[in-house]
Amino acid sequence: MVNKIIDGKKISGEIFKGIKVTIEDRINKGFRRPSLSVIYVGNDKGSLAYIKMIKKKSENVGLECNIHKFDKDITEDQLLEEINSINNNPLIDGILLQLPLPKKFNTNLIVSHISPNKDVDGVHFSNAGKLYLGEENVIPCTPKGIIRLLEEYAVNIEGKKVVVLGRSNILGKPISLLMLNRNATVEVCHSRTKNLKESTINADIVISCVGKPELIKEDMIKEGCIVIDAGISNINGKIVGDVKFEEVLKKSSLITPVPGGVGPMTIAMLLENVMEGYLKYGIKTT
Ligand code: NAP
Repeated sequence: MVNKIIDGKKISGEIFKGIKVTIEDRINKGFRRPSLSVIYVGNDKGSLAYIKMIKKKSENVGLECNIHKFDKDITEDQLLEEINSINNNPLIDGILLQLPLPKKFNTNLIVSHISPNKDVDGVHFSNAGKLYLGEENVIPCTPKGIIRLLEEYAVNIEGKKVVVLGRSNILGKPISLLMLNRNATVEVCHSRTKNLKESTINADIVISCVGKPELIKEDMIKEGCIVIDAGISNINGKIVGDVKFEEVLKKSSLITPVPGGVGPMTIAMLLENVMEGYLKYGIKTT
């Protein structure tokens, strides 16, 4: 069996290049730059580092990125006001609300205030509902990145047995729906699943979205399985996924590394979603 390591860094790099070319072309034709607003409440170091990375990648391709950072003491009304003001600003194409919000906030209420046309992570009910109905309007960034990786490696999803580990609204659920929409047979596992191995061992594709290092071991997958690892954990400063990589690599036919697999695709898909909004709804001239 030839093992193949999926190169998310390379594929995301090509996507960034394409976005840069599109933006340069628009600017040369006298249009304004696309613009993303990132809203963040709190002070978590990991989230702040991620947001800084979004800003850097945005600027590298010529996309404007503004960070709206708030102390956790901000009230729900103030946060809604901020969202309304960005919604009403025709020069801003995308809003990313960094989740999770501190516990005191009603996340569903806040998310429902983001204009569906500017909802670049597909979290608004309208976009989530469309995904449920198989219409796929704005797709959440990480699940979209996983689909793109599988497409790039010419994986035929139809008819495959796919096991997804995790059922969060931003990752596990949407990737399960995306697989179902592509005619896979999908099983979703979570923290209450009794025997994980019983499910994963028969899967053609395992997609892990948990955040528990070394959860998936060699004896849990069948020979030739495709393994997508979206998990990210920081173990003594080292970033690791959910999969015991070196072991599972030997048995899988395709596998994503961590880092360098799914991770780089997320920001690429975020900027792609901003661009889709910009090209569709944005004011086209300066
Ligand atoms: P989350 O909201 O904490 O969800 C984790 C999911 O894993 C839950 O559904 C949970 O089940 C399930 N789970 C926990 N223990 C399990 C076990 N032993 N077996 C099977 N399922 C188990 O996390 P998330 O936001 O979806 O993120 C998941 C992971 O992906 C994290 O490591 C996160 O850092 C990473 N992530 C990566 C990217 C990227 O760009 N690559 C983007 C987003 C997130 P219950 O529902 O029963 O609690």
